[in-house]
Formats: sequence, structure tokens, C-alpha cells
Amino acid sequence: MERFDLAIIGAGPAGMAAAAEAAQRGLDVALLDEQNRPGGQIYREVDRAAGPRGAILGPDYLHGASLTAGIARPEIRYLPGTVVWAVEDGLRISFTRDGRGGQLEAGRVILATGALERPMPVPGWTLPGVMTAGAAQILLKQSGVLPRRAVLAGSGPLLYLIAAQMVRAGTPPLALVETQTRASLRAAGRHLPGALRGWRYLAKGLKLLAEIQRAGVPRHTGATAIAVEGGTAAEALTFRCKGRTHRIPCGTVLLHHGVVPNTQAARSIGVPHLWSPAQHCFVPDTGAWGETAKPGVLIAGDGAGIHGAMAAEYAGRIAALKAAEELGRISVPERDRLARPLLRARTRETAVRPFLDAAYPPCAEALRPADGTIVCRCEEVTAGSIRSHARLGCLGPNQAKAFSRAGMGPCQGRYCGLTVTALLADAHGQSPDETGYYRIRPPIKPVTLGELAAMDEPPSHAAE
Ligand SMILES: Cc1cc2nc3c(=O)[nH]c(=O)nc-3n(C[C@H](O)[C@H](O)[C@H](O)COP(=O)(O)OP(=O)(O)OC[C@H]3O[C@@H](n4cnc5c(N)ncnc54)[C@H](O)[C@@H]3O)c2cc1C
Repeated sequence: MERFDLAIIGAGPAGMAAAAEAAQRGLDVALLDEQNRPGGQIYREVDRAAGPRGAILGPDYLHGASLTAGIARPEIRYLPGTVVWAVEDGLRISFTRDGRGGQLEAGRVILATGALERPMPVPGWTLPGVMTAGAAQILLKQSGVLPRRAVLAGSGPLLYLIAAQMVRAGTPPLALVETQTRASLRAAGRHLPGALRGWRYLAKGLKLLAEIQRAGVPRHTGATAIAVEGGTAAEALTFRCKGRTHRIPCGTVLLHHGVVPNTQAARSIGVPHLWSPAQHCFVPDTGAWGETAKPGVLIAGDGAGIHGAMAAEYAGRIAALKAAEELGRISVPERDRLARPLLRARTRETAVRPFLDAAYPPCAEALRPADGTIVCRCEEVTAGSIRSHARLGCLGPNQAKAFSRAGMGPCQGRYCGLTVTALLADAHGQSPDETGYYRIRPPIKPVTLGELAAMDEPPSHAAE
């Protein structure tokens, strides 16, 4: 089995920056990502798409090309198309690549698995023609296509970016239906002095809004009762706004109400997680360097809490310096000297986050959906079913999973985990921390028997 100084899971800004920094400090690095090209979510396909689609996707996207260039070094073994399905103590990583299972070992591991879009369970969200706004952006980055006659609904700065990119691509959304209210904006005001340190983000947001307005895209804010209408596919989005019911006929509904850390790998190896009331999600318990309670495991980027792409880049480099120091390649004073400007830059990049978190909270009705709404898409379990299991005495998600099958499908709870926790926490009047989350076990991604059988060596847990 091959052994590396450092294995990094995820080739987004955090993973790519960590790999380049570690290589510079003399570490040999394995950089694994399930995507076929480096870039992660924000810089997806940047090497291929930057030319034809650069003007649509904007200068922030083009910045990714400098990171992809940085991983072309002999010390870095970049493994695209590699799905990691287990990380075990002893820092052994099991993965699938080209239809075969494989394993490698590392002295240190950085989990840079990024973020997932927060699922937005509203009535009708499982109809064909409904997808996340991020999925539409993936289509644009990867294939240069966008849905026509689409409505964007939810909240968060990413909605504005995607709306503006749709405008530039010549397929503006029919409308922007936003759930944040004047009250949330007012509440965010107390974070404004801190946010001014990140004034560039605020300026970018205002520019995007102006672009959307110039294109004549109607905006509805403070929307409630969002639902998708349709028989066999989405036909219209309905909602209430300013005392009126609205119905917008459309072919596609793009839902988005923020992103949350992708914690599956961290949870599967037992890294403790804490509830973040500001971000309405669980985040892994990490130190300033990204270190965790699991020896040798660090977490960098949005997987450690949502702070955006530039902060992810700095966090990746900071975690790599920590790994290099722990492996004896640099001294503690050298680590500290190299990290100082990075820590400062990361602080600057994250200054705007408390304001954004407060101004664009997730849509309240989707956090606690109505009884008839499906929350677990894989197993088709409704919110009402989870509530009824709570009444029968299920205290936490693992019990509810055993009774209802919610969280047992191929997405392994990525789509329903936070909703199930919220429903059970409400039902029992306890906090999300007390309620807990699904116990995540490998394989964290689906793996076939054929892929296992084609492994060079059997997985270490096969004998257990
Ligand atoms: C759909 C979507 C679109 C977004 N678009 C934008 C945008 O346009 N602009 C913006 O500013 N922010 C955007 N964001 C937020 C942005 O993703 C982050 O701020 C930033 O990319 C975080 O960088 P990262 O390196 O932490 O993670 P990411 O960029 O998310 O990279 C994580 C990588 O880990 C890989 N990975 C995860 N699990 C596994 C596994 N088990 N095996 C192998 N590989 C794995 C993923 O394939 C991914 O490439 C988007 C988020 C999402 C979810």
C-alpha cells in the first residue's frame, strides 16, 4: 500500500492550497477528489471553462486557475475521479477509482470536503424540474447550459451570484423569491461594524443586486408559504408576500437557502461536532490550525464551518503548515512565522460572515417543514412521519432512522440529517446538541461489490 506524508481529501480551494503549501515544505502529498478536474465547488472546471464562460462566471471564478496551476508539482499526486468512502484510524484511506477499490496510508490527513447546499424541503420540492440553485450553476460551469423559465427561491448571497450569472448568460431568472425579511436585515445591523472590514464582499453584493435590477428581474422579499405546484413536473412556484398570494408559472424551480459543512468524513471517524446557532448547522470542533480531537486529522475550508472560498484557501495553507511542523519538516517558530500573515488574512476574510449569517438566515418554514413534506428523499419519509416517531419516543436521529429508514438511502443523510435533528429537537424541547445527528459509518459514499472485489488488497475492516 502506498504511503504519503499527507493525504488531502477534496481539491477545492482549501485542498489545493494545502497541497501546494505542503509540497513547498517538502511533504509528499496525495490529493484525492471525486471530481474529474480540480477546483471544488466554486472553481469547478475552471481550467476548461475559464475561456468560453469566464465573462459569465466572473473574476472571482477565474482566480481558481492560479490554484489549479499550483498543484502541478512533482511532490503532489493528484488523484481525480477518486471517491473516498472510508477514513480509518491509523490514517488509512479507502477509495474507488476507475471502477476499482484502492487504499493508501498517510502520516497526516486534511479533510477539505467543503460544503453542501442546505436542503430546502418545501411542498413539491421532489417534483421533476426542481433542483438546487447550485446544481444549475454546476450545469453552467460544467456543460455551459442553464434552465430556461426558471425561478430562484430561498435566501443567501449565492442566490444573487447565480441570478447575475444567469443574466450574463442571457437566460435571466423569471423572478427572485427571497425569504429573508426586513427584520433579519435589521438584526444583522449590529454586525455591520465588523463586516465593514470585509467591505469588498458587501460592495460585490451591491453590484450583483444592481446587475439583477438592471436586467429587470422581479424580486420578492419576505416570502412565506413557498410551494412548488405541478402534476408530473414543476409547473409554478407559489408563495405569499406582503399579504398577497403569488403564482409564477415556470419550467424549473431553483431552491437555495445557504450551504452547510459536508461533515460525513469527519463524523465517520468520530470527530466531535458542535451546533452553530449562527449558521444553523453542526460544525466539527477544530482548533485554529484545523486540528481535531482525532490524532493526525485536520479539517480545512468550508467543511469546518462556512467562511467562503478565500478563507478556505488560507485555512488550507494554515493546516498544511501544521502538518509540516508535526511531521518535523519545519520548526514551530518557522510554522508560526509562515502562518502569521495567513491567520491575519483569514480573519479579514471571515469578518463579513456574522453579518451575512444574520441577514440571510435559512428559510424558517423549510427548517421545520409541514407534516406532508418529504424530508428524506431517498426513502420518501415525511416530516409528519418523523414527528409521529418522536411522539412514540424516538429521542434522536439514530432511533428515528431505525424506525422510519430516514437517512438510510444512498445520500447517507446528507439531505435530511439537519431537518430530522430540527424536527426531533422541536418535538422534545431539546437543543440540537442534545438531540444529536446520525451516526455516520463507512462507506460514506456508495461502493459496489465489484469495486471491492477489484481491490488490490482487501479492506482492513472486511475481516471484522
Ligand atoms: C453547489 C455549490 C456551489 C457554490 N458556488 C459558489 C460560487 O460560485 N461562488 C462562491 O463564492 N462560493 C460558492 N460556493 C461556496 C463554496 O463552495 C465555498 O466557499 C468554497 O468552495 C469552499 O472551498 P472548500 O475547498 O472548502 O470546498 P469545496 O470547494 O466544496 O471542495 C470540496 C471538494 O471535496 C470533494 N469531496 C467531498 N467529499 C469527497 C469524497 N468523499 N471523496 C472525494 N472527494 C470528495 C468535492 O468533490 C469537492 O471538490 C458554492 C457551494 C456549493 C455547495
